[in-house]
Amino acid sequence: MTNGDIFRSDMYDEVIRQYDEVAEMINLDPNIKERLKLPQRALIVTFPFRRDEYTEVETVIGYRVQHVLSMGPTKGGIRYAPDVNLGEVTALSILMSWKSAIVGLPYGGAKGGVAIDPRPLSRAEKQRITRRYTAELLPVIGVDKDIPAPDMGTDEQTMAWIMDTYSNFVGSPQPGIVTGKPASLGGSITRREATGRGAVAIASAAMEKLNKKYSDSTVVVQGFGNVGRYAALASYEMGAKVIAVNDLNGGVYNEKGINIPELFKHLAKEKTVKGFSGGDAFVGEILELECDVLIPAAVGGVITSSNAANIKANVIVEGANSPTTLNADKMLRENNVLIIPDILANAGGVTGSYFEWVQNTQNYLWKEKDLYEKLIDVLTSAFEEVYIIAEKNNCDLRTAALIKGIKRVAAAKLTRGLFP
Ligand code: NAD
Repeated sequence: MTNGDIFRSDMYDEVIRQYDEVAEMINLDPNIKERLKLPQRALIVTFPFRRDEYTEVETVIGYRVQHVLSMGPTKGGIRYAPDVNLGEVTALSILMSWKSAIVGLPYGGAKGGVAIDPRPLSRAEKQRITRRYTAELLPVIGVDKDIPAPDMGTDEQTMAWIMDTYSNFVGSPQPGIVTGKPASLGGSITRREATGRGAVAIASAAMEKLNKKYSDSTVVVQGFGNVGRYAALASYEMGAKVIAVNDLNGGVYNEKGINIPELFKHLAKEKTVKGFSGGDAFVGEILELECDVLIPAAVGGVITSSNAANIKANVIVEGANSPTTLNADKMLRENNVLIIPDILANAGGVTGSYFEWVQNTQNYLWKEKDLYEKLIDVLTSAFEEVYIIAEKNNCDLRTAALIKGIKRVAAAKLTRGLFP
């Protein structure tokens, strides 16, 4: 085992395989090439946690990984999931570096996580985990250092607790320490909806290049969390037919199109899409349904060489991070499926976060309408640039997006030079 092996995982290996291919294409300086494979900083913490019954004390493990500290503070979400590990968080931090660079934000990539299943946690338990994890991260986070955001299993309330804990330690309110906060604490509604809506805006721009209309499409969404639900809502509002959605508890199918605003009402009451009366219950392989646009917006690694051949969608919009393995990606491209890659498709999240952070740090307030316009402008401009790179290099959008992101990060590192 070399020293770098501690950062490895299946997802890390995939991210590095992609990176190696692109680094070779662009003749990346070999010193920079190796340097960017490992994160600059990784903090592993363990802390005690008591459930509400107060019977025993568990030890919980958490992580925060910062990939590149050359371009500004680092930025990336925090996920709560039972299988979170150092290798996964590292891979996601690297993807965050490329993603921020693709949309031109002054951030390096970071990611964090706590290895715990958030679903059975009471509100009080989740609050205790969040406050203690935040306290453990104090040496490495900061408004100008590293700014967390929500990811799987965390939400606006989690960000509010992080902000409160951090502010108490610092001694003054620090809204800029996290993004994706509730509006009452300086959060932005645009940020809340940015990942899902941004993914649809980019997909629509990509489909126009093929003379296809997003608004005429049938859409299937896997996962109905922060990303999936707003991708579904944006699709519905554009006039597309969302024919199936699901979450961990169950799914809904309606070939005439699901009424998404009504489904939001059901979700608010039941906390799941299961049982919605505006369609039939759906059980089965949602990814394999006949549709024009498929939006995986749940977890990574769901489209693999085992199911890629069964996918019937013409367009895949990667709302989730790393939903498609590299082998599956190749099979799908051979079948002429257009893939809008995660590092571009879900970059609305970090872009919306950037606007929220700028507002907090400058004590500035944009109208939500203006923020939304800025968001779509940044995302569609990034898409156009990636599209031109793809045409020039005769490559797919994932490779083109990586070329753009990696070149920018490498240029920042080279320009700063070595210390000492
Ligand atoms: P979330 O926790 O809010 O929602 C996840 C949803 O997926 C839930 O509805 C859950 O029930 C469902 N789900 C989980 N496993 C599933 C499965 N096997 N089949 C069907 N549904 C399943 O998470 P989120 O914030 O929406 O994140 C989803 C994905 O998007 C993650 O990969 C995350 O890293 C990525 N992402 C999120 C953001 C963001 O702004 N939240 C930004 C960029 C990327």
